[in-house]
Amino acid sequence: MAALNSYKRIIIKIGSALLVDSVTGDLRTDWLRGLAADIADLKLQGHKVLIVSSGSIALGRNVLRLSDGILSLEESQASAAVGQIRLAQAYEAALGPLGIKTAQILLTLEDSTDRRRYLNSRRTMTTLLGLDVVPIVNENDTVATDEIRFGDNDRLAAQVASMVEGDLLILLSDVDGLYTGDPRIDSTAKHIPLIEKITSEMEAGAGDTGTVSSKGGMRTKLMAAKTAMSAGCTMVIMEGDIERPLSALSAGVKCSWFKSANSPNLARKIWISSMKPKGLITVDVGAEAALKLGKSLLSVGVKTIEGVFNRGDALCIQNELGQELGKGLVSYDMHEAELISGKKTNDIANILGYAGRGALIHRDDMVL
Ligand code: GLU
Repeated sequence: MAALNSYKRIIIKIGSALLVDSVTGDLRTDWLRGLAADIADLKLQGHKVLIVSSGSIALGRNVLRLSDGILSLEESQASAAVGQIRLAQAYEAALGPLGIKTAQILLTLEDSTDRRRYLNSRRTMTTLLGLDVVPIVNENDTVATDEIRFGDNDRLAAQVASMVEGDLLILLSDVDGLYTGDPRIDSTAKHIPLIEKITSEMEAGAGDTGTVSSKGGMRTKLMAAKTAMSAGCTMVIMEGDIERPLSALSAGVKCSWFKSANSPNLARKIWISSMKPKGLITVDVGAEAALKLGKSLLSVGVKTIEGVFNRGDALCIQNELGQELGKGLVSYDMHEAELISGKKTNDIANILGYAGRGALIHRDDMVL
């Protein structure tokens, strides 16, 4: 996997058509076994891996013997409920024997738009990655109705990649990349191996490649690429229906690379810098020195705190002379922050009645 060496956190998005046989509706266990072997190799080389997998509806509708046509929303949700348990089981069965621990995470659109839920999901996923677990993520289809759903896992995967600061997102798909037009109807359409910026021509040329079992077409893939690239994550679109897809990618199989100019860390810092501050924290000399050494801001170092803010909002940080030091996302809401400012981290649980999050502003959530 030498070609993938420079990427630390790899997100692999797997479409339904790869996992579920379109004729029999059964799980494609041989293919999954090959993918699992590739994932084991990546893990052995120290990469963190997260999977975003479709397939719950395709698996569930087969079990429920629902017709081949388009399902109603209720039927899709029922199918997802039946299929998701099998999907998670399939990953556990493929990865467990290789010594890889798995976890199931089901997200809705609100988990990425609501700041508090976003931070919770992000913390859980990064904790799992830190514990060397491979999270298996899907949309929580049984509760997501049309207004509150991603609808396709391409965009979900890009959102997840951005949440966990992934640096490579691999879309295992039924197409081998981006073309200048739709190759199924335009014989002059040319394959584009490297994309550094998504242009309006590319968007206009993107036909739709969605099939009955998979939702995302090229248009949603380009939207995913935009989200990923602006979060500092490079994205690849490749044909996934080959025996060891990740080994093939590493060996240089035909595909399209959407290269991000930034690193995830830099992209996150730019994002934090662009946020409108909702309050102001004044810190003491000790905290100022700690921040300059790259440490988190602890409640004990806070002199005063002003503003109307919720957990996850951006606050400006200044020293006692009123000089601006930086900006960061606060881990507590204004009432909690008020109660714990000036207090030691060990006392937080006693003061609030629950354990809390440790630092008032974590160093990863701060720009100086
Ligand atoms: N979440 C859906 C499922 O698991 C799939 C959505 C998609 O194919 O993009 O069946």
